[in-house]
Amino acid sequence: MTATAVAPVPDTAPAPDIAPTPTLHPVAEAIASGTIPGRVWFYSNYHCNLACTYCFTESSPTVAKRAMDPEQILRPAAEASELGYTDFGITGGEPFLLPYMVDLLKDLSALGPTIVISNGTVFGPRRFTRATELAGHDVAIQISLDAAEPDLNDEMRREENFNKVVDLVPRLVDAGVKVRIATTVEDGRLNADQHNELCALHRSWGITDDDHIVHPVIHRGRAAEEDMGTHLAFHEFPAELTFSVDGACWGPFGPSFTDGKLDTDLLITRTLEPVSTAASALLRLADGRPQGADTQLGIR
Ligand code: SF4
Repeated sequence: MTATAVAPVPDTAPAPDIAPTPTLHPVAEAIASGTIPGRVWFYSNYHCNLACTYCFTESSPTVAKRAMDPEQILRPAAEASELGYTDFGITGGEPFLLPYMVDLLKDLSALGPTIVISNGTVFGPRRFTRATELAGHDVAIQISLDAAEPDLNDEMRREENFNKVVDLVPRLVDAGVKVRIATTVEDGRLNADQHNELCALHRSWGITDDDHIVHPVIHRGRAAEEDMGTHLAFHEFPAELTFSVDGACWGPFGPSFTDGKLDTDLLITRTLEPVSTAASALLRLADGRPQGADTQLGIR
């Protein structure tokens, strides 16, 4: 009879088969914990059909376009999404002056909810039809409207601005496009009754109070030249990563223009890519901020 072979008893039990916990990038952790916001902004362009008195980018029909190519936006947006950023915003200038805007917005919204800021006055039949393609996509057009009275609204924007906006917004809503209203207020200019009238107007279009954003004129760019607006230190602006053709800034008020020159006080990097470089620099600045220093400006 032969001896039965006995398997040797291991000294230690085999290690359980546990997958290693993935390490989050510090930027992703900061977004997840709310230390920095999850939205990235892009300045698609600086030219505009209007030249509002309080415009902090000094936009107008005659300024340099300073436009970003779609790929200059989509590639960093894809990297930002991998880093943990969740939402996207396009601003200008008037973004819808760029022929690629609707296609870009559709592509961006595949990465996350997207807002585009517009003055709502460039939508002739062709642009309106193209804009209706945004119905069903996670895109909100945020349209500026400062008062429910035409004269008060148009005072700092342009004649007929009010009429064009009140003509456009209900048609977009009817077409299924998500619309938000943004109101820019100079101190004391809109009293409680006027504010209520404005809210009654946007509610009549089916736009809820959650989609009505009110924020002050910021003392930068043309507003500063006109001695208007609220003065804020950098840490009082929301720490939203914001790209223009010139690089990355702290917050969407960062890449403003004064006397035809880029304001560099909120510039973080001169490069757009890799996004992780700018995002890490912004996070370092945000970590050094006094607690609770960022104000509620209604930038949502
Ligand atoms: S505030 Fe907006 S609409 Fe007015 S000039 Fe500037 S970019 Fe154009």
